[in-house]
Amino acid sequence: MPGGQYQVATTRPCHSLYSLTDSSDGGPEDEDSESSLPLSALQKLTRDMCKDEKTIKELIIGRRVGFYKVRGEIGFGTFSRVKLAFHALTKDKVALKILDRMRLDTQAQRLLSREISSMESLQHPNIIRLYEVVETPSRLYLVLEYAGGGDLHNRICNEGKLSDNTCKITFAQILCAIKYMHNTNIIHRDLKAENVLFTTSGSVKVADLGFSTRVSNRSNALDTFCGSPPYAAPELFKDECYLGPPVDVWAMGVLLFFMVTGTMPFRAETMGKLRRCIIDGTYTIPPWVPGPCQRLIKGILKPVPAERYAVDQMLGCDWLLPVEFPWPWVPAEPMSPLQSLLDSESRNEDEEEEEEVRGLLEELGFTAEHLHNNPLKDSRSPVTGVYRVLLHQAQKRRGLDCPPVVRGMVRDPKREGLRAYRGLRHTSKLCVLS
Ligand code: ATP
Ligand code: MG
Repeated sequence: MPGGQYQVATTRPCHSLYSLTDSSDGGPEDEDSESSLPLSALQKLTRDMCKDEKTIKELIIGRRVGFYKVRGEIGFGTFSRVKLAFHALTKDKVALKILDRMRLDTQAQRLLSREISSMESLQHPNIIRLYEVVETPSRLYLVLEYAGGGDLHNRICNEGKLSDNTCKITFAQILCAIKYMHNTNIIHRDLKAENVLFTTSGSVKVADLGFSTRVSNRSNALDTFCGSPPYAAPELFKDECYLGPPVDVWAMGVLLFFMVTGTMPFRAETMGKLRRCIIDGTYTIPPWVPGPCQRLIKGILKPVPAERYAVDQMLGCDWLLPVEFPWPWVPAEPMSPLQSLLDSESRNEDEEEEEEVRGLLEELGFTAEHLHNNPLKDSRSPVTGVYRVLLHQAQKRRGLDCPPVVRGMVRDPKREGLRAYRGLRHTSKLCVLS
């Protein structure tokens, strides 16, 4: 039966949240019968989920999942279907990644739990967020941040190669996301244009952490072939262990080539020929690709992993010099006393944000008791789901999801000063991000 931890018995409420409405039997529509107080949004919703026939039917047929109203399909993958949904309380759009438990063998279950645990530990403006996980006996639903601007693969297939500036802005955001993941010791292992999504405001969101893995440190060797062959690094085709970060770096090189030229660097009719082509590192960059971009591609697509650019070298490359983020994208170095001072300012901002979100939760009807009983860390709790949606909303209002811009190559010393200042000012945010 749909619903999972929200599972609604047609006769009796069964989730602790629903007990809020137990006493409203026979009272006026939107009032608590004992206190005659108007019901909160949360009380109305939980009451409907227990007693309203239409809502219960929607839960049974999958038109609702927990606190989410489900709409049309927006994508599908190897193991999943992805649908658009709305949070019934906050009205925010989310993407619902739906997995059929029957189709998940042991290997797929392991990958899924890695996907969930990686997403739980990542919070970055360029990585799709996980808000909640809803479980039912037959299905698992990942409630994700919605990216409504389509994916990079479709964009290039429909519109052709990207302009130089769009490439810079897009690639810088992917790089920023991967830098952050590697700093957190998480390797993506399935970077490809289909897994790079856009929001409607043009921000980039790296998605699909289904092949991601956590390493205890970045020099840990891995041995499972993951990802899509055209994006696979040469070492993946050899029966050897490999290091995680250079594999993501190679895939970013293929992505960059695809973005600037609209074609893939390694193409072949058979898997054997593709393998050969990648191992040999044979590709041709069209001469019209700007020099600094060519140098970056060549630095990345080096067959020997140890010779390949590291993420930090990519961050410092000439081609990306004119990209400016509204927040600093290079993670912080150890703090100076001045930075520590500014850090406390940023900590205050975080506390204010937290206060704001708790206020919004209370307005919706979450009581101090709900919040006290919920550490807001368990992805399987509906309270965490609402909290994360509202927190993300608050962060977006502060401009955290704004895409970077490309400034002219002539550097303005005044802006440089401002950039340096901003870098310091947001250092604590970077500590959270990095
Ligand atoms: P595969 O392993 O085959 O790549 P998957 O089963 O892991 O796929 P995803 O890649 O996560 O599934 O999602 C499949 C498709 O659904 C994506 O290519 C994208 O078009 C769409 N999609 C996924 N997540 C979102 C999202 N958060 N917002 C908007 N669309 C999404
Ligand atoms: Mg995918």
